[in-house]
Amino acid sequence: MLAGRDIRSEFPTLHQSVGGRPLVYLDNAATTHKPRAVIDALTHYYERDNSNVHRGLHALSMRATDGYEAARARAARFIDASDPAEIVFTRGTTESVNLVAQSWGAAHLKPGDVVLLTEMEHHSNLVPWQVIAQRTGATVRYLPVLGANAQGGLDLHALDSLLTPQVKLFAFTHISNTLGTINPAAELCRRAREVGALTLVDAAQSIGHEPVDVQALGCDFLAFSGHKMAGPTGIGVLYGRRALLDAMPPWQTGGGMISIVEFSGSRWKPSPERFEAGTPNVADAIALHTAMDYLDEIGRPEIALHDHALAEAAYTALAELPGIRLLGPAGRRAGLVSFALRDVHAHDVVTFADQDGVALRGGHHCNQPLMKKLGLPSSVRASFYVYNTPADIDVLMTSLRKIVRFFGTP
Ligand code: PMP
Repeated sequence: MLAGRDIRSEFPTLHQSVGGRPLVYLDNAATTHKPRAVIDALTHYYERDNSNVHRGLHALSMRATDGYEAARARAARFIDASDPAEIVFTRGTTESVNLVAQSWGAAHLKPGDVVLLTEMEHHSNLVPWQVIAQRTGATVRYLPVLGANAQGGLDLHALDSLLTPQVKLFAFTHISNTLGTINPAAELCRRAREVGALTLVDAAQSIGHEPVDVQALGCDFLAFSGHKMAGPTGIGVLYGRRALLDAMPPWQTGGGMISIVEFSGSRWKPSPERFEAGTPNVADAIALHTAMDYLDEIGRPEIALHDHALAEAAYTALAELPGIRLLGPAGRRAGLVSFALRDVHAHDVVTFADQDGVALRGGHHCNQPLMKKLGLPSSVRASFYVYNTPADIDVLMTSLRKIVRFFGTP
């Protein structure tokens, strides 16, 4: 029970059984479910306002444009950006990072420059930098994680040697999607600023779970996805400081992003239109607005407490299982827990748990280099959200104990 209401009843997908068992959904780090209010916002838009934006002068187009731009202003308020023009709508975190890599990176990186990442980056905040580094001659370096199970978080002492004036951008995740580590994002941004490096924060795992404030973080760019915060798929945000965005070349080109087109050449609008070529995802931006309202109605500090408490309870319960290897910090952690069971492949755990109605995730979690460093082919992840309860952990543990017995792990 969060904010004194029956949150679970507000999420239609949760009210189904899987294999004859009530669904216990613990795959929220992959994507969260959507409350009725968000689903209704989508239907309402398509039933009443559906139209193309910015270029139309009729009533529906004006309503669609107003709704789309109101969503942008709402997103700015949600992360405390000072100007809606600092909000670029994208497909999600992956596209936001690619935008910065392909636009800012292609324009500014040169041989000798360094892009600093961490060893716990999701592939979405790693591969785009490898690709642009290869094209520009820049180098990618990684801030290490500490401990055999990465329980020590990022090696902040290594920053002293890694954060050199050659580092042009430090891109790191706010919360690790595999480890549950909450990184000291404001401190990392401050350290990067000291050497003149820009910062990009991957907020995919934090945005729906705790207050995220770009001014308090002091970051230059921040990326997130709507679908991990009770919003729709196919919509996300790139926040960028206005001066930086306005100085960046377009990424994709076409309609909507130009100021003048002539046969001899074209000129661009300022941000954010410059980065939103073509018909944008109006419906999902509007539904994302509803999702932001929904989360703030519950209260993001309250959501953080709720999710963290569930993850800590799960960690404590899991630690009792024989042959378990828990990843990430033992103490303060975000709302997820990853583990490996000796002798049982992660995919077997997930498949068997599914038969008990428990939705888990198993695999490398788009963290292949990290998993390799930890010497694991895969791990199992349970991740929590507003509608999960301690009873869900009981069902998870009953299922896992059965799995451990079945596979005969001592
Ligand atoms: N970064 C992190 C930390 C993530 O957890 C994810 C999604 N698993 C992404 C980036 C990519 O998000 P999306 O697939 O929505 O673009």
